[in-house]
Amino acid sequence: MKSLLNQPKSLKTRQVAIHFISDLHLDPQQPVVVEGFLSYLKTNAQKAEALYILGDFFEAWIGDDFSNPFTRKIINSLRSLTEQGIPVFFMHGNRDFLIGNTFLEQTGCQLLSDPAEIDLFGRKTLLMHGDTLCTDDVDYQNFRKTVRDPQWQSDFLGQSLEARLVIAQNLRAMSKEKTGQKKEQIMDVSASAVVKIMTDHQVDLLIHGHTHRPAVHQLKVAGKTAQRFVLGDWGDKGWHIVADQTSGIRLDSFPLK
Ligand code: MN
Repeated sequence: MKSLLNQPKSLKTRQVAIHFISDLHLDPQQPVVVEGFLSYLKTNAQKAEALYILGDFFEAWIGDDFSNPFTRKIINSLRSLTEQGIPVFFMHGNRDFLIGNTFLEQTGCQLLSDPAEIDLFGRKTLLMHGDTLCTDDVDYQNFRKTVRDPQWQSDFLGQSLEARLVIAQNLRAMSKEKTGQKKEQIMDVSASAVVKIMTDHQVDLLIHGHTHRPAVHQLKVAGKTAQRFVLGDWGDKGWHIVADQTSGIRLDSFPLK
């Protein structure tokens, strides 16, 4: 973190906070969420030193070459934030893993790997979307392996937009049907997968989304107390995690209307 000592007074008095959001599932058919996000950028995000988007930002993404008034509106809104000098970091989710370089160039967002380690005010922190932690869902992990394969992706992106829309719709219908048949616990993270990745990365703080089960969990990693923060999905309300140097880290929800 930068030292605040030599900053102009206006910056010293500004609260320096890092914001995390995920699972907005932005979709033109959910205008309350779309408008809620646009207003989030003009209010909450203005207080941020950086914004981290941890996946499933869009409900669907079939390639950067698909463009309509909705995608242009979202791209422009992100661009205006990054142009103000507020860095925006973007991690792929299981819905928008085809976000590519064109989107990143258009928005000024920086792509994060999953998992990604960051330094959060001196505390090494692991960021993930969260789907790779759901290891009990073997079907899904196999599906993920397929669609994250570069060859599958280049074949998919090589098809016409019309063909891609149809494939994406079928994949979503299939996933909905399968999800409906699965037990609740299968679709949550596996406790052992959480401990393993936190041990491997030697972190005592993990932030992720995906499960739509917003919570703060206390756990033990390598014999020490650790925390797992889970973001919520946006719908009736929005969710974010805010970390600042003085008051620590918190999970919050807020109305979207
Ligand atoms: Mn997800």
